[in-house]
Amino acid sequence: MLELWDKAVTSIQQNVKSQNFDIWLRPIKCESIRDGKVTLLVPNRFFKDYITTNYLELIERHLKEETGENYDVSFVVSEEANGNGEEHPNEDTIEGNEELAEPCVPLGTMIGTLNPRNTFNAFVVGPSNQLAHAGSMAVASMVGRKYNPLFMYGGVGLGKTHLVHAVGHEIRAKHPELNIFYVSSEQFMNEFISSVRNQTQHDFQQKYRHDCDVLLMDDIQFIAGKDRTQDEFFHTFNSLYDQQKQIVLTCDKYPQEIDNIEERLRSRFQWGLIADIQPPELETRVAIIKKKAEAEELDIPNDIAFLIAENIRSNVRELECALTRLLAEASMYRRPLDVDLARHVLQSTFNVSAPRSTIEDIQRVVARHYNIRVGDLKSKSRQHSVTLPRMVAMYICRKGLGSSFPEIGERFGSRDHTTVMNACRKIEKVSATDLAIRSAVDTLRRKLAI
Ligand code: ADP
Ligand code: MG
Repeated sequence: MLELWDKAVTSIQQNVKSQNFDIWLRPIKCESIRDGKVTLLVPNRFFKDYITTNYLELIERHLKEETGENYDVSFVVSEEANGNGEEHPNEDTIEGNEELAEPCVPLGTMIGTLNPRNTFNAFVVGPSNQLAHAGSMAVASMVGRKYNPLFMYGGVGLGKTHLVHAVGHEIRAKHPELNIFYVSSEQFMNEFISSVRNQTQHDFQQKYRHDCDVLLMDDIQFIAGKDRTQDEFFHTFNSLYDQQKQIVLTCDKYPQEIDNIEERLRSRFQWGLIADIQPPELETRVAIIKKKAEAEELDIPNDIAFLIAENIRSNVRELECALTRLLAEASMYRRPLDVDLARHVLQSTFNVSAPRSTIEDIQRVVARHYNIRVGDLKSKSRQHSVTLPRMVAMYICRKGLGSSFPEIGERFGSRDHTTVMNACRKIEKVSATDLAIRSAVDTLRRKLAI
């Protein structure tokens, strides 16, 4: 009967990575097979837990395949299974001994740290990052089969790392059995160099080319000019690609623009999907600020969100920084979260000397000029004394701030974007002939410095 175990082991061996087999399956001894029950001896309790979680099903399946019958497998901790004098992992060695833990990557391992906040849920999608976001979602749901590699590129602080982490979180939740590696190309290089120095290249290659199921590599531009690392990465890429394992890369440039990178790598970067991330537009910046405030359980007034978003345009990290700073000042000095405080923060921290006017500013200045109330501009009133200033204000928002039609509509009493479009066209047209209107627009724009 014990032969049955040998047979099962032989077929299991063909289905498990050799290192995992050597560490977890080879040491198992079969004590007995009786009445549909199989008793297996394992060296220690840790081993027992690990193998129960990770290999019990596989063992039962192979026993069934050999015999056509169901077996009940149980593990018993026994010195005997430790009898061949080899070291086997136990609580002490597995925790404290990296040498043992490293060459073998147990199933479902996560290498590298993902920021728990960088999820798809926390990511605001806009035209500037739509493609990268869609590509990341596709990759997370069709691991290795849809776009391989996914290559995302864009400037600093635009959300590349955020999206890569989100892919990692999502795959981990859906496929806990996969080994996900998140590393920067710099870490990859350092690890490679130390493997050369310590003559553990074989382990390094086993880990990256075989044990890895999903490779998330951040900031690939770093390996430009590093010939040996590029060569190693080339082979890693090929091996993973051939096994249909998902590769996600981020870079600060488009592949053609990376200097000092081998042509064969450059071309591989373009095999899958290339998605750029551009600096976010105004609306996306506002949405990001609101989302971040929400995460802090704060409701930030619209005019402040706009003031920040209109003045900080380059990258999302700075936006976050401005918000954090604003919240810190408000609580430190017990000041209300208002436009004055926001202006102060923008001036003192971000050197925005005269913060740009906002839609609110335009409404205020236009209303004062025509001697009406801001509320009138947003009201439903169709009196000429109100409709003209309203159209002028909309026009200045469009010309001076470049705000979108829907955005302006929203801020002028939830009007439709076509209403705004018509208003802007009309002012454009009449100001060509009507000097009074033209000079009013000019004066107002000068006052607002836009
Ligand atoms: P990169 O890797 O491109 O330099 P990061 O991914 O580190 O940029 O992003 C910088 C910061 O901005 C992070 O805190 C990230 O969460 C945030 N961020 C960037 N884009 C978005 C977005 N669209 N929605 C929400 N947060 C974002
Ligand atoms: Mg990054």
